[in-house]
Amino acid sequence: MSAKKPVYLDYNASAPARPEVLEVLSSVQGKPFNPSSVHQFGRAGRKLIEEARAQVAALVGADPKNVIFNSGATEGNNTVLKHFEGQRVLVSSIEHPSVLEVRDDAELIPVTPEGVVDLEALEGLLRQEPKAALVSVMLVNNETGVIQPVQEVSALARKYGAYVHCDAAQAAGRIPVAINELGADFMTLSSHKIAGPQGVGALVMGLCGETPMLLSGGGQEKKARAGTENVAGIAGFGQAAELALGGLDSYQGLSVLRDELEAGVGEIVPGAIFHGRDQGRVGNTSLFSVPDVSSETLLMALDLEGICVSNGSACASGKVGKSYVLEAMGVSPEGKFGTLRISFGWGSASEDVQSFLKSFRVCMERMSVCG
Ligand code: PMP
Repeated sequence: MSAKKPVYLDYNASAPARPEVLEVLSSVQGKPFNPSSVHQFGRAGRKLIEEARAQVAALVGADPKNVIFNSGATEGNNTVLKHFEGQRVLVSSIEHPSVLEVRDDAELIPVTPEGVVDLEALEGLLRQEPKAALVSVMLVNNETGVIQPVQEVSALARKYGAYVHCDAAQAAGRIPVAINELGADFMTLSSHKIAGPQGVGALVMGLCGETPMLLSGGGQEKKARAGTENVAGIAGFGQAAELALGGLDSYQGLSVLRDELEAGVGEIVPGAIFHGRDQGRVGNTSLFSVPDVSSETLLMALDLEGICVSNGSACASGKVGKSYVLEAMGVSPEGKFGTLRISFGWGSASEDVQSFLKSFRVCMERMSVCG
């Protein structure tokens, strides 16, 4: 840990749990609430889970009976992609690795240089034989924050008889989400992206009437996800979902902080490139590149200053990789460029932006690339 007070600007990686969520967790954690038991503790656990199911369903406009709790969006994405094993699947080239890397034979839907799924290219792929069974397009990209045209994707997929999967991990709680309006048959959610506990998520079904399953050997979660439920985690997720739904407006209001940050960065480094800036973006995310410095050097220098941000594609090993999203957009800048992703959330304030800019200026001056 850095000696300086941390400034946390990496909400897209994981949002700190809200105090109300921590209260729920501490009141449930450790109790023998096995919802399959018939006694009072079992019934109490079942009640908590069903309340959470209604809260999570409300966040995405779904029917509670179509919500299956699991361990997170990675599991949800794997479950859906594997459900279509042996069939042709189309996935956008900017999906999270938990979609991109599940099926070796998945075909990539290209994106425009602005980071938006190319609908014409999608239709071209849908026209080909054999017909695709599934199209997977996320609602909000985790690196750029760019909102994807999922409704249009669904209309095209319907036309050619394909199901639609939508990874909404970075969209829920940030913009209004209505699963049936979007036309998604399957939607994946992650609790810790909305300030709930980690290791919990949901797979939500739209109008398709199919329930993909991953784990068998128990009757839990409509027999689609066997194993004793993580009752505390699920209850915390439900609480986070309710707060996220109530806080949608203030979330979009985070664009004020983002714009303040982008203006400041542009002043410090006039050559900075802001990716997806002219597209519809969620309010909390900024992805930008600056010349003559590597992402790794920049991230480490900022970390020493106590600034916690990412470059958008830090992998599980903690290594700093090149942004595959920027590569897919065809805007991976030539030469040495460092890319940073800043993402705000419920605890962010203007002081965080100012602290970031102060440290960023110091780092850039040290690396003497200021304009
Ligand atoms: N999809 C997207 C778009 C994400 O941003 C993430 C988290 N980085 C995931 C899936 C994986 O979520 P989880 O941590 O819940 O497995």
